[in-house]
Amino acid sequence: MKSKGNITINGRSFPFREGQTILDVAQANSLDIPTLCYLKRATSNGGCGVCVVEVAGGEKGVQMLRACETPADVWMNVRTESPTVIKARKEAIQNMLDTGNHNCAVCGTSDAAWTDFQLGAQKSDETTDLCPVWGDCRLQDLAFKYQVQGQNIPSDKEYPKDLANPFFVRDYSRCIKCGRCEAACNEVQVNLAIDWNRNDKDASYPLANEFCVYCGECVQACPVGALVEKDVHYSLRPWEVDKKVRTTCSYCGVGCQLELHVRDNKIVKVEGVDAAPNYGSLCVKGRFGYHFVGHPDRITSPLIKENGKFREASWDEALDLAAKRFSEIREKHGGDVMGVLTSARISNEENYLAQKFARAVLKTNNVDHCARL
Ligand code: SF4
Ligand code: SF4
Ligand code: SF4
Repeated sequence: MKSKGNITINGRSFPFREGQTILDVAQANSLDIPTLCYLKRATSNGGCGVCVVEVAGGEKGVQMLRACETPADVWMNVRTESPTVIKARKEAIQNMLDTGNHNCAVCGTSDAAWTDFQLGAQKSDETTDLCPVWGDCRLQDLAFKYQVQGQNIPSDKEYPKDLANPFFVRDYSRCIKCGRCEAACNEVQVNLAIDWNRNDKDASYPLANEFCVYCGECVQACPVGALVEKDVHYSLRPWEVDKKVRTTCSYCGVGCQLELHVRDNKIVKVEGVDAAPNYGSLCVKGRFGYHFVGHPDRITSPLIKENGKFREASWDEALDLAAKRFSEIREKHGGDVMGVLTSARISNEENYLAQKFARAVLKTNNVDHCARL
């Protein structure tokens, strides 16, 4: 897209292209404008107000505008951290903290320092009193950065937790109605499983309907503790993860990029990586189907059947036996009595090798693939 001119942000001039918002230009030039409801690859709704900036230079004088939904323009002189911006941002954060059960940020006493409260809360994280995403929450990060305290904790009874879902827990008491789950489901995954009018202030909390395929895109998008994977709900704190390992999903040939969260050499959680080909999205298998890796019933060595019973064997022994039997069949009956059925669940390279094995080793052109079914 062609350049439309330059915009001034914090006293520096930056070129922008047609269609770019103030936030786009800032992000492209590594300038930090905090966001919360903004979700990449979805329509901005500007609902949370955290990305507010001060814009001077137009006919209307100085305006407070939301960077995520305001198109960049040449007349704009933008300030991203002025005192007025900080004040507006603090109010936005305060409003969100006050709408729900955000007990990580409630100080509760007039003389205790906010940071002291946080340190005290960290010590008591063994209890379920503290939010399950303490330490891994965008709202908490912002409250800490801008030193904003929550004032209000509604009772749990008012917002009973929804535990019916097999993969994640929905806790309405912590929902800030940012709309990211709805955008993630309806615009990014296009599953259309969340009915919610984000522009209706009186609308109830976003709910998944019968079209939900449990892909977990909404959980990954939720910036707070309103949607949490069941497997880690009160059983894993972010600092207990020993390492994160990037890998490729083994379920199909799409090659989605994953990050495995590992504790004590066990996979405890999976997240999508924001890179090609999936850009953070995963299906239900890639995101939640990892328990087989450490399952005690998993077969981890070759088995050879003898006298109707399986016995464990080494790979060399098993491969030698298979090669011997295939050779015997080929020599006795010819290669065309055999066929090779490959899979969309393996890579292109493995499919290539499978057909090569069929034609060059087994001497048959009987090759097919499950994707043709
Ligand atoms: S959702 Fe975030 S802000 Fe709310 S209590 Fe949990 S950690 Fe704190
Ligand atoms: S799990 Fe997937 S399909 Fe279900 S509501 Fe969330 S994003 Fe939509
Ligand atoms: S469930 Fe999470 S992502 Fe959805 S509106 Fe509430 S806070 Fe936002």
